[in-house]
Amino acid sequence: MARLKCVCGVGLSNTNAPSDNILYVFTKAEVNNAINDDVEISLYDFETSINREHEYWYCQDCKRVMVVERKPCGRLIDSYSSCSSCEVVSEQALTEFYVFSDIDIYNAEEEDINLSLSVFIHQYGEEHLRFITSDKKNVYKKTQDNILKLIYTKE
Ligand SMILES: [Zn+2]
Repeated sequence: MARLKCVCGVGLSNTNAPSDNILYVFTKAEVNNAINDDVEISLYDFETSINREHEYWYCQDCKRVMVVERKPCGRLIDSYSSCSSCEVVSEQALTEFYVFSDIDIYNAEEEDINLSLSVFIHQYGEEHLRFITSDKKNVYKKTQDNILKLIYTKE
């Protein structure tokens, strides 16, 4: 059980399970490495085994994403505010990652606890794929026209 006060002032908690305030973030490289090591690895085994330094919190009110140290009373490391603009950037400088809500993961595992990571990513990966700059300042999403759209920026 944990609580976090958002930058906007709203109190967030993860006491509900699954929580709509908790996000899971995996880099595409982490996912690919796990599948390369074990093509059958389940989503559950993957997401419970991965060693995370940070928690990712989402505020429904202001749509901010906050990066917090993963320990009791963890410190806020970064916060990202939602924005919307189209900007063409070079993909080479970006790291690809997936972001899923706690509810997305819960629902997938509820349906099939043995669901493999590769099937899950094949099914849902594309719409949850994001791109982050190496300075971790800007987060992009690909539009249907294959344009990278700025969706979050570090405050
Ligand atoms: Zn907020």
